[in-house]
Amino acid sequence: MFVVMTVGASEADVLGVKSHILGEGMTPYDHAGPERIVIAVVGDIGPLKQVLASRLASLPGVEAVTPISRPFKLTSREFHPEDTVIQVLDAVVGDGSLTMMAGPCSIESRDQLFETADVVKAAGATVLRGGAFKPRTSPYAFQGLGVEALRYLAEARERTGLPVITEVMEPSQVDIVAEYADILQIGTRNMQNYSLLRDVGRVARPVMLKRGYGATVEEWLMAAEYIVSAGNPNVILCERGIRTFETYTRNTLDLSVVPLLHHLTHLPVIVDPSHATGKRWLVKPLAIGGVAVGADGVMVEVHPTPDDALSDAEQQLTLEQFQDLMRTLIPVHEHVRGLHDDPVAPATEIVAGTAGLSKH
Ligand code: PEP
Ligand code: MN
Repeated sequence: MFVVMTVGASEADVLGVKSHILGEGMTPYDHAGPERIVIAVVGDIGPLKQVLASRLASLPGVEAVTPISRPFKLTSREFHPEDTVIQVLDAVVGDGSLTMMAGPCSIESRDQLFETADVVKAAGATVLRGGAFKPRTSPYAFQGLGVEALRYLAEARERTGLPVITEVMEPSQVDIVAEYADILQIGTRNMQNYSLLRDVGRVARPVMLKRGYGATVEEWLMAAEYIVSAGNPNVILCERGIRTFETYTRNTLDLSVVPLLHHLTHLPVIVDPSHATGKRWLVKPLAIGGVAVGADGVMVEVHPTPDDALSDAEQQLTLEQFQDLMRTLIPVHEHVRGLHDDPVAPATEIVAGTAGLSKH
């Protein structure tokens, strides 16, 4: 439930509500909106819900106590109606600008990363990506250069000024990745690795949470909820395709989630057409599609010589293809910016479908 404070509620009123919530064994999270403070009551309330709601409603400074209709609380638009805007160095994600994350699937050498970084920066990328710890389907495939690659990433940030993003695969890597990277990426295979989610929730770095390839929107937002409730409000969601019966493409890019997520949550949304399609020539049309449906940004893989890449050779763009993509995407983004309706109040209410996770 949410406790909506009155417009003029004092600090003591807010503290009073929060200590009452703590006293009941629940956790309060407050959000100061433009007019008033709203406090979310999070925890396993059980049958005491009604009693707690009426006790809270009678406290000084409380205007109303309202139930949260969704299982995700802190990530919901109901709790936090304004968009979350995340600033990392000079890059701003979620403010209506176009975030472009680009770079190689795997960092293979300093030269390969620097060559890519220089070109994507000049073409308009706002974040440099590169894999250091690689989740590979085969244990015999290239697993990434690890800490050596993290050092190259940090050098590339110094060189270009771009913030850098890289994947963290397990709890033991969180500290070292957070030391070198500006944004931590949770890959599709780890979307429901709850101990990893809690650990990245405790570091002072934004986290990009990729959608699990078999995850519903609700499961995805509940995963984001783990990070936010652990103390890290700066979460970016990334749609990277889900597994369907289709085999021509590596995954199926679910573009419908972009406007859906903008309605359900205040968190920014990025689309990754590289992992979604697995095919170089499909990246551009789906990047255009992602921007057209209102994504806050796009992540693409770029390599100086993709055919020689040690991972995801078929889907990485050449440097020239990335330049061409940027020339196309910038005007598309300018064009669609003002076309979308208010995501907070769509005409018809959205409820989880029968195939969704409704057992909460
Ligand atoms: C990646 O972006 O490097 C990656 C491995 O992506 P995903 O987790 O979406 O497969
Ligand atoms: Mn890849």
